Amino acid sequence: MGNELSGRTALVTGAGAGIGRACALKLAARGARVLVADRDSESAEKVAAETRGVAVVADLTQPDFITKFPEEADIVVNNAGFQHVAPIEEFPPETFASMLRVMLEAPFLIARHVLPGMYARGWGRFVNITSVHGLRGSPFKSAYTAAKHGLEGLSKVIALEGAPHGVTSACVSPGYVRTELVERQIADQARAHGIPESQVLTEVMLAPEAIKRLIEPEEVADLAAYLCGPSGSFITGVTLTVDGGWTAR
Ligand code: NAD
Repeated sequence: MGNELSGRTALVTGAGAGIGRACALKLAARGARVLVADRDSESAEKVAAETRGVAVVADLTQPDFITKFPEEADIVVNNAGFQHVAPIEEFPPETFASMLRVMLEAPFLIARHVLPGMYARGWGRFVNITSVHGLRGSPFKSAYTAAKHGLEGLSKVIALEGAPHGVTSACVSPGYVRTELVERQIADQARAHGIPESQVLTEVMLAPEAIKRLIEPEEVADLAAYLCGPSGSFITGVTLTVDGGWTAR
């Protein structure tokens, strides 16, 4: 593995677990200094130790979270997110607001915070971990689908404004990934769809995918790292799907 990101600082949100942790490890292996941002201090410290990076303990739902973030990031991986599965008429409005805050407003506030430095240095990379739900809807996922569609739009605008300054922005859009986020929603999906938990994987999650397996966090992180490396320099304003053929339908 090369040292192509040596000298770059990468801010990864939600880096304490799952896809974010995999991205942090991959970027560190390519030479980046990683700012491991997570609300969970224990996991942030653990991943910071694994990557020889720096833990930034911050909860993106809090209005002042941005004051804890350094401004000097060259790479931002907007990854932090969470799921809530419920029909719209039962969906708690405060949960809807919180999901929009973490998955859409926080990336906007982070961009606002770090873009001046990127522009001054003439280089920057945004990788936004959206989802198939940035491109497609699913029942019972109103806030998640709305937030991810919003992040897809924000990414395009960062790409257009950033291009003259050497800044790119792209979305990585996975299908179901083998992480805690997926484990946690199995019971909720079973309840919402009225089926046993044992059928959720095959009848709900993998039903629209042509390739019938979960994708691993490392596979998503590989693509994120590719976008940050030299080969990613002309890839901007787009979405790269890693969804096993879901959006071919
Ligand atoms: P995960 O639950 O395994 O890890 C998420 C991490 O984000 C955790 O460490 C958590 O502490 C942190 N986090 C959550 N809310 C936060 C907040 N308010 N402030 C700071 N940190 C916070 O999740 P994951 O599966 O790795 O998902 C990561 C991203 O990938 C999410 O944006 C998710 O929507 C997206 N995604 C996941 C899947 C999937 O199937 N797992 C599919 C497509 C997209």
